[in-house]
Amino acid sequence: MTQQLQALNHIDGQWLQATGGRTSPSVNPANQAVLGTLVESSREDALAAIAAARRTFDDSTWSHHAKLRQQILLQWADRLEQRPELAPLLSAENGKVMPQAQGEMGFAISEIRYYAGLTRHIPGQFQEVEPGAYAATLREAAGVAGLIIPWNAPVILLIRALAPALAAGCTTVVKAAPETALILSAVLQALIDIPALPSGVVNVLHETGHEASQALVTSPDVDVLSFTGSNLTGQCIMAAAAPTMKKLSLELGGKSCCLVFPDADLEATATRLAAAATIISGQQCTAARRILVHASIYERFQQLLAQAFTALHVAPGNAPGAQVGPLISGRALEGYLQQVQRALDSCDSVIVPGGRLLGEHAAGNFVTPTVVAHADTHAFFCQEEIFGPFVVLEKFEDEKEAVQRANHTVYGLSASVWTRDGDRGLRLARALRNGTVWINDHNRMFAEAETGGYRQSGIGRLHGYEGLGDFLETKHIFRQAGVL
Ligand code: NAD
Repeated sequence: MTQQLQALNHIDGQWLQATGGRTSPSVNPANQAVLGTLVESSREDALAAIAAARRTFDDSTWSHHAKLRQQILLQWADRLEQRPELAPLLSAENGKVMPQAQGEMGFAISEIRYYAGLTRHIPGQFQEVEPGAYAATLREAAGVAGLIIPWNAPVILLIRALAPALAAGCTTVVKAAPETALILSAVLQALIDIPALPSGVVNVLHETGHEASQALVTSPDVDVLSFTGSNLTGQCIMAAAAPTMKKLSLELGGKSCCLVFPDADLEATATRLAAAATIISGQQCTAARRILVHASIYERFQQLLAQAFTALHVAPGNAPGAQVGPLISGRALEGYLQQVQRALDSCDSVIVPGGRLLGEHAAGNFVTPTVVAHADTHAFFCQEEIFGPFVVLEKFEDEKEAVQRANHTVYGLSASVWTRDGDRGLRLARALRNGTVWINDHNRMFAEAETGGYRQSGIGRLHGYEGLGDFLETKHIFRQAGVL
């Protein structure tokens, strides 16, 4: 990619440089090549974006006009479908391999169409509560929504927040992650270019720091704040948002456990778990992190896993056959390697050592996967989210122990159960304290199906009908009409 791209702010219908005029580069994590620049927003830019969204919400008919909102969402999906160059840009800026980038674009387009449909199905209720007395409940837009989007799956994580926000009738300010500002800007441009979209409905900010994000979190003019990111930042946001009592949707970290029973198809399961652990190079909140294996198949499955992880092709996202791309940044690489080294120094045994990929890819942030075995679930590497291709293997004797081990975590985002026994699959799915449990699968997500965290993995649900709920208020309207 030779042409340099620019991610500008978009405020009240205009593409703008940041007020201070500063920019930062966005680089390809596979080779550090500069792909383009993003503007560095100040608090002033953020306040201008919030003011535009507020004005538009208060003074326009946007929140009343479901058919217009639907038409715009449908046009956006059509326009994205006609932009095949977006998947390679996503792969280049994020590092993910091309099939994952293409899958993310397809998922995002499908989800926009899902919420376009729901735009015209946000019903309330109407009932006679006493003779001649009528209580209506109206579901109406919550107001201005601030959306803070991370870099790991930037397109689908944008869509799963922005599409329901627009469907509900909110006006919005999107704060893009700096690592993937260019792809986000391109995806949003396809929406903002639609002539029927009123200016002020979709505002966009970029920054490498947190000044603009913090303005969104603390502003009394932002009614809803939707954040996907780490637990540490989620906690800061929750505390900073408290004085304005805004509605919060927090989608945070995870430590997914995968429970493997002797009646599973062991070879296929090992291959699929290796893929589930290394999706986006292990930088996905739901990636497989701990693999819990029944004692009777432990040795055999350990061998199968070692083969499956070692066979993975680590290479730039656009290389033919690449399965695992680079980590997002040099900083992420350094932090990951330190955590993995601490784990290697204290685990029971090392199954696949992993490490940096050097040679022709030395300039990129590449690592090969690491797998360790460990019995004590208190170990930091069984408890903390390590954002990369790192997996812990554990042994269990029976279903009860498997569930106890898997539930020993502060997280509760997702898990999977691998068995041919349908009753067991369902029994364990019920016992695992997670927002999603897959049976004989992992990392499968759908526009129609809500996802979200139990416990410290977050608050609220995204995707599905419940995903709209974050962007709606319920109003009770009463009228005493009398009886004839
Ligand atoms: P992060 O928390 O480091 O940063 C996310 C964004 O938050 C940044 O772009 C930044 O603009 C903003 N931010 C940082 N500090 C802030 C502050 N004090 N106030 C307001 N905003 C602030 O997260 P990350 O490293 O970019 O993303 C990875 C994390 O996201 C992982 O923990 C992963 O599990 C989680 N995640 C969760 C889900 C989910 O659905 N639950 C999905 C994807 C990623």
